[in-house]
Amino acid sequence: MIYADNAATTRLDDEALNAMLPYLREQYGNASQPYSFSRSAKKALKDARETIASCINANPEQILFTSCGTESDNWVVKGLALSHSTSWRVAVSEIEHHAILNPCKQLEEIGYKVDYIPVDKNGLIDLQCAENIKSDLVSVMFANNEIGTIQPIKDLCRVAHENGALFHTDAVQALGHVHVEVKDLDVDFLSASAHKFNGPKGIGFLYAKDPSLLNAFICGGGQESGLRAGTENVASIVGMSVALKKNCEEIDVNKKHLMMLEEVFLNALNASGVDFIRNGAEERIPGNISLSFKDCEGEALLHLLDLNGICVSTGSACDSKNTQVSHVLKAIGLDEEYAKGTIRISLGKNNNVAEVQKIADVLIRSVGKMNL
Ligand code: PLP
Repeated sequence: MIYADNAATTRLDDEALNAMLPYLREQYGNASQPYSFSRSAKKALKDARETIASCINANPEQILFTSCGTESDNWVVKGLALSHSTSWRVAVSEIEHHAILNPCKQLEEIGYKVDYIPVDKNGLIDLQCAENIKSDLVSVMFANNEIGTIQPIKDLCRVAHENGALFHTDAVQALGHVHVEVKDLDVDFLSASAHKFNGPKGIGFLYAKDPSLLNAFICGGGQESGLRAGTENVASIVGMSVALKKNCEEIDVNKKHLMMLEEVFLNALNASGVDFIRNGAEERIPGNISLSFKDCEGEALLHLLDLNGICVSTGSACDSKNTQVSHVLKAIGLDEEYAKGTIRISLGKNNNVAEVQKIADVLIRSVGKMNL
């Protein structure tokens, strides 16, 4: 099996798994209990929060643990709006993940106004358009999950602040893959998810520059300073912190490796003469290769690759049952004859040259068959 769908999820890092095991076996105490048995769980939670904060240059109290990136996104978009009247305005890019777009839809259904900021053919936000938007919250993803485009977050955040808005970025695809420093970016909120950076599934966090701006989105006990109730998932939080630290330390090495793999892969594809477009901007998440093949079916390509033991995605993995052209490809204005034949190959640090050569060979043969 060749796994090339790292934008959908990544393999759990062995060190992260080993760090988790004691909290699933011996140290199973509830971190909120006052007795000594829970002390080690409580300390693990504190250490993990500090580690994660230092990875993004935040303070520990600005890190709020959640169950996933989707929850972090919902908390900011819906949680903030619902604690204000319907005159609270939200602006998001057209190419956000559904974890942002669907909460926006829900807000619209109950009377809130949402503005959608367009992108150019590379998936980059039109800065001038962003300047003209009047809203209370602007949410723009750090990097797009389908085409890898990295947005100029620092500039977008500055523009939002000049217009008096708060700024959130969904950094689910970016964290652990490119350098992210919240103080430098000056973002108010940032969403992250562990399974995208070799951590466990079902755990994520929300960075909040000023957590007092948030209301409890999930109500119950007093965990996470009373802002996010639910017994802490200590093992997964520990796993997330180990995986993030490791990935952040390896960012430059991994980037070099992934750029080399991209080159090998694209050289093979170019040499074959197949007609394709590579989507995304110059600045992308390393290893994210979105390709659109003329007069092909992305879904059929995915199955042909699968028959050869290769895992890739059409559009976004979260939508892989949907055979329609994705909202992202529509937003970048890709011609239908190419858009329908889009697959996303997302390489990870564990992939090697032999694997990308095999993917290229199978892909070239499959496209050739389809164009007969
Ligand atoms: N945001 C982006 C950009 C994503 O790519 C994803 C998952 O694919 C999510 C949010 C949702 O993250 P999670 O799977 O942790 O809910």
